[in-house]
Amino acid sequence: MIKIEYLAKSFDKNEVLQNINLDIKKGEVISIIGPSGSGKSTLLRCVNLLEQPTEGKIFVNGDELTAPKANITKAREKIGMVFQHFHLFPHLTVLENITYAPIKVKQLSKQEAQAKGRELLKRVGLEEKENDYPNRLSGGQKQRVAIARALAMEPELMLFDEPTSALDPEMVKEVLDVMKDLAHSGMTMLVVTHEMGFAKEVADRVIFLDEGKLIETGDPKKFFERPETARAQDFLAKIL
Ligand code: ADP
Ligand code: MG
Repeated sequence: MIKIEYLAKSFDKNEVLQNINLDIKKGEVISIIGPSGSGKSTLLRCVNLLEQPTEGKIFVNGDELTAPKANITKAREKIGMVFQHFHLFPHLTVLENITYAPIKVKQLSKQEAQAKGRELLKRVGLEEKENDYPNRLSGGQKQRVAIARALAMEPELMLFDEPTSALDPEMVKEVLDVMKDLAHSGMTMLVVTHEMGFAKEVADRVIFLDEGKLIETGDPKKFFERPETARAQDFLAKIL
């Protein structure tokens, strides 16, 4: 479904990603891990073209996203993104946050968008919060709204950039549970996270990045228990 070929990204002389090759099948859940500054966020941002790759190609369902004439807006509609710091619209209610893009971009009627939004709020366990503003919610609740908002666009791929890193520990599980549920529903997901439990239990594959290079990829259990490269061993020794 997604093919990344020889992807590279530089900021001036800083080569942040080098020669990344990756094939992602429909329904696959991939956990991306690596030290701070290794290029994880940049990789996700290249996949939805929030960053323009310096070299290489990205294909989504056979269409080249990186082609000069590609319809980036259209392609991006199929890719949902969830950030560490939620990025909800503070001046909109929970339900308005979720219905905004479907109404504006997908041209759904307000009624349709609201019906769908309420369904999604139920799915993330927040149906009673639809009229609240984001500042009334806990971090875990905000992140669940952010996930519902991304899902409202009916994406084919979901990108998560450290979705639980800004949360108090007691709120991590409620967000991971929603993500697990989504994974089991067949969503294709690229997840930057150091949550080993999630990676082991839910991810089909782990990808380890270091200094902009894809160093190791493989089965999550094997990766965490018996990493092959010295770099992965060093990194795991620091975080586990
Ligand atoms: P990670 O998410 O693994 O911590 P990032 O992808 O955020 O890593 O960053 C990788 C490197 O790219 C870092 O050295 C960072 O400073 C640099 N970088 C990221 N975004 C930009 C940008 N917009 N401009 C310049 N340098 C950037
Ligand atoms: Mg990052």
